[in-house]
Amino acid sequence: YYEQVQQAERLKTTGQMAAAVAHEIRNPLTVVKGFLQYYEEDPEVNKSFKRNLSLMIDELHTAEHVISQFLSIAKPDQEKTLDCVDIQVVLNDVTELLKMYGLSNDNCIVLSVEEGCSVNANSIELKQLFVNLIKNAIEASPHSEAVIVKAQKYKGEVIITVTDHGKGMTINEVKSLGTPFYSLKSKGTGLGLMICYNIVEKFSGTIEFESEKEIGTTVTVRFLLV
Ligand code: ADP
Ligand code: MG
Repeated sequence: YYEQVQQAERLKTTGQMAAAVAHEIRNPLTVVKGFLQYYEEDPEVNKSFKRNLSLMIDELHTAEHVISQFLSIAKPDQEKTLDCVDIQVVLNDVTELLKMYGLSNDNCIVLSVEEGCSVNANSIELKQLFVNLIKNAIEASPHSEAVIVKAQKYKGEVIITVTDHGKGMTINEVKSLGTPFYSLKSKGTGLGLMICYNIVEKFSGTIEFESEKEIGTTVTVRFLLV
């Protein structure tokens, strides 16, 4: 049967110091990567060394990715300007983006959005939220099962669900979601869902996971309808 866990008030602390450190680390990384890329294009450099260069560049990419995820959490709240955002536009953009990055290659994302699902939020952050959730759903589906994304209006709310038929989670795994660096993937950062919790909270929404091992997962996000 399905276990349900609601985690609204998770991880409010984001750590300004972490943000400062992350920022200071990112700059030298970018410089080093620039040099490596320069040598990668140099015809004088021999082939076997080029292979090493490309491994080094990949690792730097990963490090940069972790750091930008971090920065997007710890970034001090700038002016809180809320816009009326159409969820349909957000989800269409996210689907396109995931295709562009080849992240939804064989997996197909099945999108069904009711007209007029508008919420008070920031569209960039909403995209970040759904990229993270849909990416997780795709990564959990080893046999390219479709990921189903739905949005509908219900009793003054917009309810968005992301459903996969992938590997699912145990109740203890579900309880760990959102904990920084909690990841069961070899190349995961374990920061994606922490970011999601922060974004949902920022726009006074809720996020809920329903999962069963080997059956799949449904993530439900709710915001007030405007
Ligand atoms: P990452 O994707 O980098 O590992 P996340 O914070 O996005 O970090 O996710 C944390 C962990 O939660 C994942 O490593 C995975 O084990 C689990 N998880 C998240 N979404 C799903 C899902 N749809 N199905 C199964 N496991 C999931
Ligand atoms: Mg993730």
